[in-house]
Amino acid sequence: MNRSTLDAIGRALRQHHRFAILSHVRPDGDALGSTLALALSLNELGKNVRAWNEEGMLEKYSFLAGAELLTPPPNAPEQFDVAIALDTATQNRLGKAAEAIRKAKIWINIDHHPSNPGYGDLVYIDPIAPATGQILFDLISTEKLPMTPAVAENLYAAISTDTGSFQYPNTTARTFEIAADLIRAGVNVGRLSQLLYENYPKRRVELLRLLLGTMQFGCDDKLAWFSLSQEMAKSVGALPEDNEGLIDHLRAIHGLVVAIFFEELVDGKVRVSMRSKNEAVDVCAICQTFGGGGHTLAAGARVRGTLTEVTQKIVEKACDVIRHNS
Ligand code: AMP
Ligand code: MN
Ligand code: MN
Repeated sequence: MNRSTLDAIGRALRQHHRFAILSHVRPDGDALGSTLALALSLNELGKNVRAWNEEGMLEKYSFLAGAELLTPPPNAPEQFDVAIALDTATQNRLGKAAEAIRKAKIWINIDHHPSNPGYGDLVYIDPIAPATGQILFDLISTEKLPMTPAVAENLYAAISTDTGSFQYPNTTARTFEIAADLIRAGVNVGRLSQLLYENYPKRRVELLRLLLGTMQFGCDDKLAWFSLSQEMAKSVGALPEDNEGLIDHLRAIHGLVVAIFFEELVDGKVRVSMRSKNEAVDVCAICQTFGGGGHTLAAGARVRGTLTEVTQKIVEKACDVIRHNS
């Protein structure tokens, strides 16, 4: 933990008044939980806070405390003292939310993606942290910012989702200690876990059934992938948020090294989502060669082309990397 940067961020949060808190497009539990946690804590300090995400609040996370604070950005830009980017590896992944900021005196960048280039004035990137929520826990506790039960619940949701329920290799004793502190601060683990993991709409499982129908294996069964066309998504009425986590069904296969999910987007691009089970096979590096990024074991990219074209290119590259490194 770099205490002096956290202190500088803490001072900026106390000194200024108008804040915009942003996170990445296609937000996950870490992006939304972190945004709400910081927004709620700053609200307690009496600050004027906007919490924006291009997609607004997702239905699946709308049970989170303070969810109503998170909105899509307005059309007309607003003026801020401080803009804060959370969990966002590249500035362009802030999407339209960044465009709604006319001018901010200070940009703060808090993240845990190793591929984050460090944009902004006050930058705190901890690539070891399993979630941005864990960094915010450090910030809020060391800087003595308000930690209400609502803040704690959002931090717990951020950490739980980004660690795959405390399972991924970057989950440490410290992560569990933080979780324990959050429980002491008011989190009801059973209730929150049920809302996070046992509350999916039926259409998500229907989507999984369709996806498994497209499942393919390659590279001596070390690689598996499935694909989602727009037509398939439409046929079950799926929202983009419904497919978060479905790739885990591929990752869980014995002997598998890399899982890939291909999703056809409306703009002539394909969203590629990759998971690796072997630190020597760096899916972030693979995604970076296609303009994306992320972490060693979980990364993504948006690649121009049809589903067939992109699948062929990416599968070939992934298999190449698997053969040379595993
Ligand atoms: P996902 O597969 O969408 O769950 O993303 C896995 C990880 O890769 C997350 O940490 C994302 O922030 C990151 N990521 C996904 N897509 C991109 C992209 N197009 N550019 C940079 N990072 C990405
Ligand atoms: Mn994220
Ligand atoms: Mn994250």
